[in-house]
Amino acid sequence: MSCQSSLQALSFRFQADADLNPAISRGLRGREPSLDFRVAAGVIPNGAANPDVLRVALREDGHMIASDSDKPRRKSIARLGQYMRRRAAVTLALAAASVLGNFGMRGENRYTPSIVFRFQPVMVNGRKAFHVIEHFRIRQPETGIVIPKHYGGAAHLEGQTQNLKVNSPGATLTDQPTDSGEKLLQARPNQCIELSYDIVPQQTEWFRHPQEHMAIINDDYFLFNTEDALVYPEIQRTADVDVTFDWRALPRNSPIITSFGMSRSGEKNRVMRVRAPWIRVVDALLAGGNFRIAESNENGTAVVLAIRGIWRFSDADALGEVRRILDEENRFWRAAPLPYFLVTLAPFDERSGDNDGSGFTNAFMLFLSHEDTMDAERLRLMAHEMFHHWNPMSMGPRGADEVAQWFAEGFTVYYAGVIPLRSELTTYSEYLDYLNRWLRRYELSPLRSLKEAAWKSLSHSSGEGYMLSYERGAAIALWADAAIRVRSSGKASLDNVMFDLVHQSETEHPAPDFTEARVLAAFSPYLSSEQMEQLRSMAVEGADVPLPEKLGGCAVRQSEMQAVVDPGFDEKASFAAKHVTGIVEDGPAYRAGVRDGQELFRWSIYNDDPSKDAVLGVVIDGQRKILTFSPTKQAQVEQYRATVAAEVARSCTPF
Ligand SMILES: [Zn+2]
Repeated sequence: MSCQSSLQALSFRFQADADLNPAISRGLRGREPSLDFRVAAGVIPNGAANPDVLRVALREDGHMIASDSDKPRRKSIARLGQYMRRRAAVTLALAAASVLGNFGMRGENRYTPSIVFRFQPVMVNGRKAFHVIEHFRIRQPETGIVIPKHYGGAAHLEGQTQNLKVNSPGATLTDQPTDSGEKLLQARPNQCIELSYDIVPQQTEWFRHPQEHMAIINDDYFLFNTEDALVYPEIQRTADVDVTFDWRALPRNSPIITSFGMSRSGEKNRVMRVRAPWIRVVDALLAGGNFRIAESNENGTAVVLAIRGIWRFSDADALGEVRRILDEENRFWRAAPLPYFLVTLAPFDERSGDNDGSGFTNAFMLFLSHEDTMDAERLRLMAHEMFHHWNPMSMGPRGADEVAQWFAEGFTVYYAGVIPLRSELTTYSEYLDYLNRWLRRYELSPLRSLKEAAWKSLSHSSGEGYMLSYERGAAIALWADAAIRVRSSGKASLDNVMFDLVHQSETEHPAPDFTEARVLAAFSPYLSSEQMEQLRSMAVEGADVPLPEKLGGCAVRQSEMQAVVDPGFDEKASFAAKHVTGIVEDGPAYRAGVRDGQELFRWSIYNDDPSKDAVLGVVIDGQRKILTFSPTKQAQVEQYRATVAAEVARSCTPF
């Protein structure tokens, strides 16, 4: 396989016009998620005459028009759909070309970078690993090569990439002068580059958070994403790239399930091609092996649940919950339904309380402990990860994951409560519990006044301040929702800001970047200039977020004393060192007999549940002792309490 095959030059984007039967575009995308099929909404006025439609397509360089307003075209589109159902991705391009030929339409012929990833199972030092061979062409004499360093709370991934080599004559790979961990590739401009390396998984035996954020390659399955596993050249994140994932060296009976579609067990085609903005590829989820596949095809979206492990719920029930949340979110965003969505669900080894999700292009992955059920908390976790498909992933390309995290994460936290409530998947009291928990965390955070710039300089991917943007952002979202509703007398809400950001990136070409300035500006139609200044100071300067006095007519804010978990020693440092440190005199741990310097051999503290006792195993005077105590103190917090009876609360949404 070389850098660019002739087929790759033949890939097309489609522009639907307003009278295209939505079922056709949905069907097409359902069958071929990699298809770049833009909908007409906001681009082409309904009823536009064909020449106008053509002009839009010409203006939107590289888009072909698909319309079902005349028969021959409709037939061809239907035929194209059939091709896609039957044929491999390789033939897709040919099918598209023949349809284009019929109409004399044109494909894209400007330069599009391409990259090929080929995966081979290998053993490295007795561990299952993948050998990866990559081909791409470079444009400049020097190109940065990105190597996984840390991801989603997993630090030090350097050891995972081994035997990295450039195999093309004359090309060299050296360390960057700066200490970025990246490499510098020097080669002849236009040279076809081959890189190879091994992905050697770094998990330890007891599988728990944050090990799911390292590349997983096990005896019977693999699960990773571009950022936590692959080495790749620096490519502008907004640029369209032709990407090929070649899985042919993997056993034929192992399904491949990715952000861009899947190849079922036994299916012949093991080569997946996609043309997409590079950011979509950087955010791609790639999995395969021993997963059970549950699928549902309704309302324009093909949902694929790839599930492993034994659970307290059935695969069908889990799929049903995913489906309900996805339908709600599709409805919420009022955008074209997501054509394809993948959810992976796999178990942690922890018995309970450990769960984590992560959002990707057309996908999220979920890790739960065996004992978890599909309760309100799990529903919200799914709602959260799915929401990321739009916020921020459909709001324009972003330069880094940390851009406006108070918005990308905090507002997602807020809506993960609101959306299941509005659709009656959760109750009002469950909603209030959830909201109160996040507000409590914000109010009690020792970092609550930290400026955003200072937060960014912390090791925020794994360190102390990791959750600050979630907590503060959720409070800002509540403030903004209330403020917009009051100012517009109920005509607008925070929803409008969210829709506007997605709408801009769907209709402006090229899509504007997702930047903090753009996020802030999106509020300006809905807030006064003073409120805009206040928003900026809360998000950027760490100013206090004032919480609204009431939520619609259903709940009021009140100040109350509550037991909050604060065991009175430095948990993180102590557990890391297996010795107690940072003990607070007269705190709960101190009163139970815990002292600085004691050796720790066991610990269990539920940081989210003040009703549960802490259990610490410490060595006192050479003797192992188990100390059980309530790790709580009293603190003043602002919380929302329902003012209506449970039956009435069904209509609380919450505003
Ligand atoms: Zn999130």
